[in-house]
Amino acid sequence: SLSEKLQNVFKNLRGKGKLTEADVRTALKEVKMALLEADVNFKVVKNFVKSVEERAIGQEVMSSLTPGQMVVKIVNEEMVKLMGSETTEIKLKPGNDITVLMMCGLQGAGKTTTTAKLAGKFKQKGKKPLLVACDVYRPAAIKQLQINGEKQGVPVFSMGDGHKPVNIAKAAIEHAEKNGFNVVILDTAGRLHIDEGMMEELIEIKGNVSVDQTVLVVDAMTGQDAVNVSEMFHNKIQIDGVILTKLDGDTRGGAALSIRAVTGKPILYIGMGEKLSDLEQFYPDRMASRILGMGDILTLIDKAQAEIDDDKAKELEKKIRKAEFNFNDYLDSMSQVKKMGGISSIIGMLPGMGLPSDVEVDDNAFKGVEAIIFSMTTEERENPELLNPSRKKRIAKGAGVDISEVNKLVKQQEQMKKMMKQMSGLMSGKGKKRGFK
Ligand code: GDP
Ligand code: MG
Repeated sequence: SLSEKLQNVFKNLRGKGKLTEADVRTALKEVKMALLEADVNFKVVKNFVKSVEERAIGQEVMSSLTPGQMVVKIVNEEMVKLMGSETTEIKLKPGNDITVLMMCGLQGAGKTTTTAKLAGKFKQKGKKPLLVACDVYRPAAIKQLQINGEKQGVPVFSMGDGHKPVNIAKAAIEHAEKNGFNVVILDTAGRLHIDEGMMEELIEIKGNVSVDQTVLVVDAMTGQDAVNVSEMFHNKIQIDGVILTKLDGDTRGGAALSIRAVTGKPILYIGMGEKLSDLEQFYPDRMASRILGMGDILTLIDKAQAEIDDDKAKELEKKIRKAEFNFNDYLDSMSQVKKMGGISSIIGMLPGMGLPSDVEVDDNAFKGVEAIIFSMTTEERENPELLNPSRKKRIAKGAGVDISEVNKLVKQQEQMKKMMKQMSGLMSGKGKKRGFK
């Protein structure tokens, strides 16, 4: 992956001590290759490497005590700049003034899903959103929006498929005015490819209702295409921002790096999964860290703060620092971990923390686990080392499971403990030593 490649480049660089100009040029050539392979737009890569080079081959870096780290820092900073530096929010009008958002994008990009995800976010902010089914070409599309709207507890305005999208949009806004809705989100129809009909339709909507923001939804997994699509949409209908979906499945990160540079428009949110809660604010600095393989500790901390109550979080942090993790902790943390989106999602956010391929972390595995832990004595729960074969046999019997299940759990507990060790290392400032803030 891009992160792995970049990490390798930087590892070599950091190992060198003093750097020559040639060292830096070689490293940057490798960075360039890695970015191109990751499907970052060619022009973007060219400019990016140029601006890194200008800074990296300066006196400041060459004469510094840790030139390798300086280069990494510059790459990081330039990446953040490339993605727009600041987080851009979708601006909503205050009070009961109606904000109209038009979602657009190719078919399958994730418009309908994202429309419902956004509605949830706005609702959390105390807004009253109304979703509008403007995709009249696929019968299933209206139904899909209704199902998602229902899940979010947000009403959906639809007129069936016998009307023009522009008229549906007009009627929806009238409906919103009469019924006290203050955010109207138009879920429009996409096509498999850019085509005139689709663009005309969007232009017609924009020409006849006052769309406050046009939000383009693009699929990160399509890489270069995502960027080309963004450019074409922007040229035709003027977009205000982009939501990049399916970033959970995109190992390359190319689209995230290119979109801002190519369109001049910010990424507003990122889709991180199919669930309606899987929409995250876009932070250029965090994305850069993620791409550089620094993991996204900030997002993790944010999530933890939102989901875990303070005392529990402090307790967890203490455990992590001490790198201890017995079965009581296992029970305790199960519910917390579930709230944070499961173990696999947490691990994914930590830097350099891929699991060994023979160990599978299955979030469902938690379900059967309680019975086993409850069959242990207090002593056994606190000191998992006590678990010899005969004790394991007794526990399996008590829990009514096969002994292999018990062994599996013990293995997982050991794995968790190992993870705690790694996390404790990170928290004690390994990150700082690498030359990051
Ligand atoms: P539309 O045609 O643009 O309205 O796209 P849909 O909203 O119907 O989404 C197409 C598919 O992509 C659906 O299966 C969604 O569940 C899926 N999808 C949307 N956003 C995401 C995302 O952020 N991550 C993942 N993994 N899947 C997504
Ligand atoms: Mg749709």
